[in-house]
Amino acid sequence: MSAMSQVNSSTLEKTELIPPLLGATMAELTAWVQQQGQPAYRGKQLHEWIYQKGVRSLADISVFPKNWRTEVAEIPIGRSTLHYRSVAPDSAVKYLLQLADGQIVETVGIPTDKRLTVCVSTQVGCPMACDFCATGKGGYKRNLTRAEIVDQVLTVQEDFQQRVSHVVFMGMGEPLLNTENVLGAIKSLNQDVGIGQRSLTVSTVGIRDRIRELAEHRLQITLAVSLHAPNQALREQLIPSARPYPLEDLLTECREYVEITGRRVSFEYILLAGVNDLPEHALQLAKRLRGFQSHVNLIPYNPIEEVDYKRPKSDRIQAFLTVLQQQKIAVSVRYSRGLEADAACGQLRTSKKSE
Ligand code: SAH
Repeated sequence: MSAMSQVNSSTLEKTELIPPLLGATMAELTAWVQQQGQPAYRGKQLHEWIYQKGVRSLADISVFPKNWRTEVAEIPIGRSTLHYRSVAPDSAVKYLLQLADGQIVETVGIPTDKRLTVCVSTQVGCPMACDFCATGKGGYKRNLTRAEIVDQVLTVQEDFQQRVSHVVFMGMGEPLLNTENVLGAIKSLNQDVGIGQRSLTVSTVGIRDRIRELAEHRLQITLAVSLHAPNQALREQLIPSARPYPLEDLLTECREYVEITGRRVSFEYILLAGVNDLPEHALQLAKRLRGFQSHVNLIPYNPIEEVDYKRPKSDRIQAFLTVLQQQKIAVSVRYSRGLEADAACGQLRTSKKSE
């Protein structure tokens, strides 16, 4: 009996919600309002106001009793403030959001037909230092919390006055270096914001053992892996973090991911003129991926200031695509949106364009 109550109380301690509240489940919010001496049904109200109505301060929840609202007014929900917003000619919207500690992250809202996709950041900066990516050039500050990740989606939803249908974890940072908060955010986006798991994509450059660990959660999300080269030597040249993690090992983990989750993996491949875009690279890539339940996304390079890579001419892009198609590899070319607002893949940094 006493052993059991011990287990219970320690579980309670473990799950106790510490604000900010964003990212918390209905059960956590209900427990929290009860702790504050309020009836359980206020948890449901709080959940609705945070996730559906997008309230920014507890003081504004008009269904709460006035004196309690005053009492909890300063308790953070976890919403960022808008630092800068710009719209690209293709209607992608780039946001620089200021967090509670003053750090700034970038988020992109991408409308297409009936879809609204949000590209979220998972870290302030990024420690991976990929040679072609602007984010890596600015260094790394810290991981984002689950509240800070969910906030980005609610911010875009509010600005567009439209429900977000898809979320891609392809903004600043390496999601699998922040797995716990990314998993927390995925759970909340799915259960609290109401976005289907299949509409969520996590993109990683590959961190040893982390893809396997992610697979064990058996989520129905899409895993995208930034490959960018068909062999280890070239990959190391572009992605320094690939040195201690051979391509073979990465692909083995990806295969396990497919086996465990039953989901195919997407491979991203930036096309850099004269570097990794030759027909022989395409052939090598096809060989590596033969029989693999996967899809290749070719991403023509988006220019950044610090390096002088070039985007291949369109006939070269087409030639690369054709080789893969002839080799029966599922492949498409993905032109990034938001290029003119410096909001496209690899261009994310915490500055405004004019700075
Ligand atoms: N760290 C994660 C997610 C962020 S990057 C990852 O590496 O997957 C999202 C995608 O944009 C990655 O495939 C990345 O390699 C790609 N990217 C980076 N710089 C780019 C550039 N300059 N042009 C086009 N795509 C780029």
